Amino acid sequence: MNKLKNKVAIVTGASKGIGASIAKYFAAEGANVVVNYATSKEDADKVVKVITDNGGTAIAVQGDVAKEADITRLFEETKNAFGALDILVNNAGIYTYEPIEQVSEKTFLRQFNINVLGPVFAIQAALKLFGDKGGNIINISSEAGKTPLPTGSVYSATKAALDAITISLSKEFSGKNIRINSILPGVVETEGSHNAGFIGSDIEKKLVANTPLGRTGQPEDIAKVAVFLASDDAAWITGEKISVSGGIYGV
Ligand code: NAP
Repeated sequence: MNKLKNKVAIVTGASKGIGASIAKYFAAEGANVVVNYATSKEDADKVVKVITDNGGTAIAVQGDVAKEADITRLFEETKNAFGALDILVNNAGIYTYEPIEQVSEKTFLRQFNINVLGPVFAIQAALKLFGDKGGNIINISSEAGKTPLPTGSVYSATKAALDAITISLSKEFSGKNIRINSILPGVVETEGSHNAGFIGSDIEKKLVANTPLGRTGQPEDIAKVAVFLASDDAAWITGEKISVSGGIYGV
C-alpha cells in the first residue's frame, strides 16, 4: 500500500465522484493529497476526514479551475503545505447534454473553460512546482470524446480536445521526466451522473447493453487505474488514452 509514498498530489474536483475516490486511493497509497473543490466545502472536508481518519494526509483547497488566479492560489497553498508537487490529476469537469440548437455561448464556454482551459492553467502551474525532478499528469477525459452521444457535441469536443493536449504534451515534455496520460471513463455512477439524469435512464440501459462487462462503472474503477498511472508501475507509459469503461463499444 505504498505505491505513492511521500508523493504530493493535487486532485482537482475531488469533493465528489471520481475525484473524491482518486484522492482517497492516492492517500491510501501514501500520497499527501490536495483535495480541490469549487463550491462544496463540506463534501471536500468529508473527503479529507476519511483520509485522515485512515492515517493519511490531506488538505482541502477551494479553487475554480477555470480562474487563473484560483489556480495560482491552489498551487501556492500546495507548496506551503507540502513543499513540492509530484502528481496532478485534472479531474474537475462538467457535462451538459443539450441539442445543438440550445447550445449558447455561455454553455459552450463554461464547458470549455472548466474542462479544457482549467487543465491548461493547472498544467502550467504544475510545471513550475515539478521543477527539474519531473512529475506526472493524469487527465480525466471520457469515452464520450471517442464515441460522442447525441446532444453531447460540445462536452465530447472538450474531452477530445483534452486528449489532444495529452498527446501533444507527452511529446513536448520529452526529456523532462514528465509523464502525461488520459483516462477515458465510460458511464460512472457519481453525484454528477445522477444529477445529469444518466443513472437509471434508458441511455444508461443502452450503454450497459453495449458493455461486455455488463455494468455501469463505480468511481473506484477509475481510481485504481489512476493509482497505477501515477505510480512507478506505469514508468514507461506516456501519451496514452486509456479507456476504463467495461469495454463499451458504442451507443
Ligand atoms: P461530479 O460527481 O459532478 O463531481 C465534479 C467535481 O468537480 C466536484 O468535486 C466539483 O466540485 C468539481 N468541479 C466542478 N467544477 C469545478 C471547477 N470549476 N473548479 C474546480 N472543481 C470543479 O463529477 P464526476 O462524474 O465524478 O466527473 C469527474 C470527471 O470525470 C469529469 O471530468 C467528467 O467529465 C469525467 N467523466 C465522468 C463520467 C461519469 O459518468 N461520471 C464519465 C466520463 C468522464 P464542487 O462540488 O465543489 O462543485
